[in-house]
Amino acid sequence: MRYSQLLIPTLKETPADAEVISHKLMLRAGMIRKVAAGIYTYLPMGLRVIRKVENIIREEMNRAGAQEVLMPAVQPAELWQESKRWDFYGKELMRIKDRHDREFCIGPTHEEVITDLVKREVKSYRQLPLNLYQIQTKFRDEIRPRFGLMRGREFIMKDAYSFHKDEASVDEGYRAMYEAYKRIFSRCGLDFRAVEADTGTIGGSFSHEFMVLAETGEDFIASCDTCDYAANMEKAESRSKRVLPGEKEPEKPMEKVSTPGKKAVDEVAAFLKTTPEKLVKTLIYKTDDGRFVAVLLRGDHEVNDVKLKHLVDAKEVELAAHADVERLTNAPSGFAGPVGLAGIPIYADQTVDEMANFIVGANEGDAHYVNVNYPRDFKVERFADLRKVVVGDSCPRCHGSLRIFKGIEVGHVFKLGTKYSEAMKAVFLDEEGKEKPFIMGCYGIGVGRTAAAAIEQNHDEFGIKWPLPIAPFTVAVIPLNVNDAASMETGEAIYRELLSQGIDTMIDDRDERAGVKLKDADLVGIPLRVVIGERGLKEGVVEIKDRRTGVVDKVPVAEAVTKVCDALKNA
Ligand code: ATP
Ligand code: MG
Repeated sequence: MRYSQLLIPTLKETPADAEVISHKLMLRAGMIRKVAAGIYTYLPMGLRVIRKVENIIREEMNRAGAQEVLMPAVQPAELWQESKRWDFYGKELMRIKDRHDREFCIGPTHEEVITDLVKREVKSYRQLPLNLYQIQTKFRDEIRPRFGLMRGREFIMKDAYSFHKDEASVDEGYRAMYEAYKRIFSRCGLDFRAVEADTGTIGGSFSHEFMVLAETGEDFIASCDTCDYAANMEKAESRSKRVLPGEKEPEKPMEKVSTPGKKAVDEVAAFLKTTPEKLVKTLIYKTDDGRFVAVLLRGDHEVNDVKLKHLVDAKEVELAAHADVERLTNAPSGFAGPVGLAGIPIYADQTVDEMANFIVGANEGDAHYVNVNYPRDFKVERFADLRKVVVGDSCPRCHGSLRIFKGIEVGHVFKLGTKYSEAMKAVFLDEEGKEKPFIMGCYGIGVGRTAAAAIEQNHDEFGIKWPLPIAPFTVAVIPLNVNDAASMETGEAIYRELLSQGIDTMIDDRDERAGVKLKDADLVGIPLRVVIGERGLKEGVVEIKDRRTGVVDKVPVAEAVTKVCDALKNA
């Protein structure tokens, strides 16, 4: 391709509404343009990257035995009513009506359409397992679309769905996808981790997210410094120290003390000349179905809402309003405590079970109890792991300790079980001729988000440093002065030769200043460039520069193509 014919509208200035570096650089490098919030046009350079990511995905999915299909973006409401998601999916589901007033949605995901297809076309266990995938445009009416392709409303996803006759088969299918994902993200040149993810109401460790490590990530992940345990913070566990009764401090008599106006943990701790670790805070939560529960937690810890939701079997939990807290504890809010608290169940984080002689609110204004002990002074419904892990916590698997990173979720593998097949009555006949619901798995990759994540990990102050396999072009040939006949002749010859070797090459044949051309090449991030300057040519050499390492090699003109080929082989 010739730069002069390509649409690459690079920008000198960073657009004001872009917050993260990948969004800024995609705009500046002329890869994407916004059409509406979270909706983008992919320009030639952007689309080339997208297609390269897609091709890697396609190759690895095919290699893993999956088959490509293409489902529609527009889906009839009936399918979503069958799965019961029409009512549950909420506002992210873009609902539309056709001219006959029939309801449809623009697919945010395709479990319904694929389950309906397989229900109609697959009848026997002999046709299983089956893995179908597509690379297709999704629409989710995200509440806060942001960061360019990272969280769009319209975006390209690879989604795969597998169908199995039994647990052993779905586990094998899941493993195969897990391995395929590892290959895909490695081939894309990304530094990533596969982490255990929350499975909502399905439970079990049947879900992994593939996280690209980056400061701009919206997810937090905990990983062990010793073994390969890694989990999303929503799910991450830590091992509690088993404190035997004899190892605790001897119990002291409980005493009520005055703490005028001291509500926050830090204030109470300072006032009583101790540290937050000696306090147990009592938080009153309300569930989506109107129940109230009390949660006990060490003063310096935080509640993990996802863990609490699962424990109390609720869809949502939120801190109760002040008025509710005051009614339930008979005290101004800020002084809640477990001693004498009646009428609502008390759940305590397991760390509380390790503590002795701690401080709690007294359910009375301006008062706390000190030297409180369990079970002497109060009862709990249950101890459970209810808190967010913190740096340095013990790994749940080994003797190591946990570290915390930020990550971008680029892929997700999930064992669905029979959730959709049961709801939609999708069954097959097993070996004994009995009807059984398909056991399913689903597997997604955000294509645009993967490209954006690659930029988050690979850039410098001058622009993008594309990993070779997903760069818009592999090599840029740059004759610095197109009006110099010898430069152009050499450039054209190298360009043609690289193309004939099957290397994805472009030539910058623009009549622009050398500085402009080199700046654009850095910004757009082509991994290798061959620069032809008049001075060098007189000495019979051209320069080959590696964008990632910055290393410049002067090579004789006749060897330029071989050197490029060698560099690519060794990359
Ligand atoms: P998130 O928690 O980031 O909203 P999700 O859990 O909703 O993601 P999935 O339903 O598992 O995502 O979708 C599969 C993949 O699609 C994700 O791993 C991600 O890479 C991509 N993806 C999801 N939502 C978006 C979006 N709004 N923009 C771009 N990519 C997305
Ligand atoms: Mg989402």
